[in-house]
Amino acid sequence: MLTKIAHIGVAVSNLQEALAFYKAVGIEPSHIEDVPSQKVKVAFITIGDVHIELLEPSSPESPIAGFLDKRGQGMHHIAYEVRDIHTVLKTLKDKGIKLINETPVEGAHEMMVAFVHPKSASGVLTELCQHK
Ligand code: ZN
Repeated sequence: MLTKIAHIGVAVSNLQEALAFYKAVGIEPSHIEDVPSQKVKVAFITIGDVHIELLEPSSPESPIAGFLDKRGQGMHHIAYEVRDIHTVLKTLKDKGIKLINETPVEGAHEMMVAFVHPKSASGVLTELCQHK
Protein backbone atom coordinates (compact mmCIF):
# COMPACT_ATOMS: atom_id res chain seq x y z
CA MET A 1 0.00 0.00 0.00
CA LEU A 2 2.91 2.36 0.71
CA THR A 3 5.10 2.62 -2.38
CA LYS A 4 8.01 4.75 -1.12
CA ILE A 5 9.02 7.51 1.27
CA ALA A 6 7.73 10.65 -0.43
CA HIS A 7 9.57 13.06 1.85
CA ILE A 8 10.67 13.85 5.38
CA GLY A 9 9.06 16.95 6.90
CA VAL A 10 11.07 19.32 9.10
CA ALA A 11 9.40 22.16 11.03
CA VAL A 12 11.35 25.43 10.85
CA SER A 13 10.65 28.89 12.19
CA ASN A 14 12.23 30.61 9.19
CA LEU A 15 12.65 29.05 5.75
CA GLN A 16 15.46 31.32 4.61
CA GLU A 17 17.48 30.59 7.77
CA ALA A 18 16.80 26.87 7.37
CA LEU A 19 17.92 26.98 3.74
CA ALA A 20 21.27 28.48 4.75
CA PHE A 21 22.56 25.03 5.74
CA TYR A 22 21.57 23.47 2.42
CA LYS A 23 22.88 26.43 0.41
CA ALA A 24 26.19 26.14 2.27
CA VAL A 25 26.55 22.62 0.83
CA GLY A 26 25.51 23.78 -2.63
CA ILE A 27 21.85 22.70 -2.63
CA GLU A 28 19.10 25.10 -3.69
CA PRO A 29 15.44 24.29 -3.00
CA SER A 30 13.82 22.59 -5.99
CA HIS A 31 10.49 24.15 -5.22
CA ILE A 32 8.91 26.66 -2.77
CA GLU A 33 5.15 26.96 -2.36
CA ASP A 34 2.33 28.08 -0.09
CA VAL A 35 0.02 25.32 1.11
CA PRO A 36 -3.09 27.13 2.35
CA SER A 37 -4.83 23.95 3.60
CA GLN A 38 -2.01 23.43 6.14
CA LYS A 39 -1.23 27.15 6.64
CA VAL A 40 2.42 26.59 5.75
CA LYS A 41 5.03 27.71 3.30
CA VAL A 42 7.21 24.80 2.19
CA ALA A 43 10.58 24.45 0.49
CA PHE A 44 11.64 21.14 -1.03
CA ILE A 45 15.24 20.00 -0.93
CA THR A 46 16.21 17.02 -3.07
CA ILE A 47 19.16 14.83 -2.12
CA GLY A 48 19.48 11.77 -4.35
CA ASP A 49 16.03 10.15 -4.35
CA VAL A 50 15.04 11.71 -1.04
CA HIS A 51 13.11 14.91 -0.54
CA ILE A 52 13.21 17.04 2.59
CA GLU A 53 10.19 19.28 3.08
CA LEU A 54 10.98 22.35 5.20
CA LEU A 55 7.77 23.76 6.68
CA GLU A 56 7.41 27.33 7.97
CA PRO A 57 4.07 28.40 9.48
CA SER A 58 2.26 31.03 7.41
CA SER A 59 -0.22 31.82 10.19
CA PRO A 60 -0.24 31.56 14.02
CA GLU A 61 -3.08 29.00 13.64
CA SER A 62 -0.88 26.72 11.54
CA PRO A 63 -0.33 23.24 13.01
CA ILE A 64 3.39 23.94 12.48
CA ALA A 65 3.17 27.06 14.68
CA GLY A 66 1.71 24.87 17.44
CA PHE A 67 4.46 22.27 16.94
CA LEU A 68 7.21 24.93 17.11
CA ASP A 69 5.72 26.37 20.33
CA LYS A 70 5.60 22.95 21.99
CA ARG A 71 8.65 21.15 20.60
CA GLY A 72 10.79 23.69 18.78
CA GLN A 73 12.32 23.17 15.34
CA GLY A 74 13.04 19.65 14.15
CA MET A 75 11.74 16.56 12.48
CA HIS A 76 7.97 16.80 12.07
CA HIS A 77 6.69 13.93 9.91
CA ILE A 78 7.46 11.17 7.42
CA ALA A 79 5.39 11.05 4.24
CA TYR A 80 4.72 7.86 2.30
CA GLU A 81 3.47 7.77 -1.25
CA VAL A 82 0.40 5.62 -1.89
CA ARG A 83 -1.43 4.70 -5.09
CA ASP A 84 -4.98 4.86 -3.74
CA ILE A 85 -5.26 7.09 -0.68
CA HIS A 86 -9.00 6.49 -0.19
CA THR A 87 -8.52 2.72 0.05
CA VAL A 88 -5.53 3.08 2.38
CA LEU A 89 -7.47 5.43 4.68
CA LYS A 90 -10.47 3.09 4.75
CA THR A 91 -8.25 0.07 5.50
CA LEU A 92 -6.47 1.91 8.33
CA LYS A 93 -9.75 3.16 9.81
CA ASP A 94 -11.25 -0.34 9.68
CA LYS A 95 -8.19 -1.63 11.57
CA GLY A 96 -8.61 0.95 14.33
CA ILE A 97 -5.69 3.17 13.33
CA LYS A 98 -6.20 6.74 14.56
CA LEU A 99 -6.39 9.18 11.66
CA ILE A 100 -6.10 12.96 11.73
CA ASN A 101 -7.69 13.25 8.27
CA GLU A 102 -10.30 10.65 7.35
CA THR A 103 -10.59 12.25 3.93
CA PRO A 104 -7.64 13.63 1.95
CA VAL A 105 -6.88 17.36 1.72
CA GLU A 106 -4.91 19.38 -0.81
CA GLY A 107 -1.16 19.19 -0.11
CA ALA A 108 2.02 20.52 -1.70
CA HIS A 109 3.04 19.38 -5.23
CA GLU A 110 -0.65 19.02 -6.16
CA MET A 111 -0.88 15.89 -4.05
CA MET A 112 -3.84 14.61 -2.07
CA VAL A 113 -2.63 14.13 1.51
CA ALA A 114 -3.94 12.76 4.82
CA PHE A 115 -2.25 12.38 8.19
CA VAL A 116 -2.17 9.38 10.52
CA HIS A 117 -2.05 10.25 14.22
CA PRO A 118 1.37 9.70 15.84
CA LYS A 119 -0.34 7.64 18.59
CA SER A 120 -1.00 4.98 15.94
CA ALA A 121 2.43 5.22 14.27
CA SER A 122 5.10 4.79 16.97
CA GLY A 123 5.06 8.47 17.87
CA VAL A 124 5.75 9.62 14.32
CA LEU A 125 3.28 11.90 12.57
CA THR A 126 2.73 10.08 9.29
CA GLU A 127 1.53 11.61 6.05
CA LEU A 128 0.05 9.62 3.19
CA CYS A 129 0.16 11.26 -0.22
CA GLN A 130 -1.06 10.45 -3.67
CA HIS A 131 -0.48 12.20 -6.99
CA LYS A 132 -3.74 13.54 -8.40
ZN1 ZN B 1 4.73 16.54 4.15
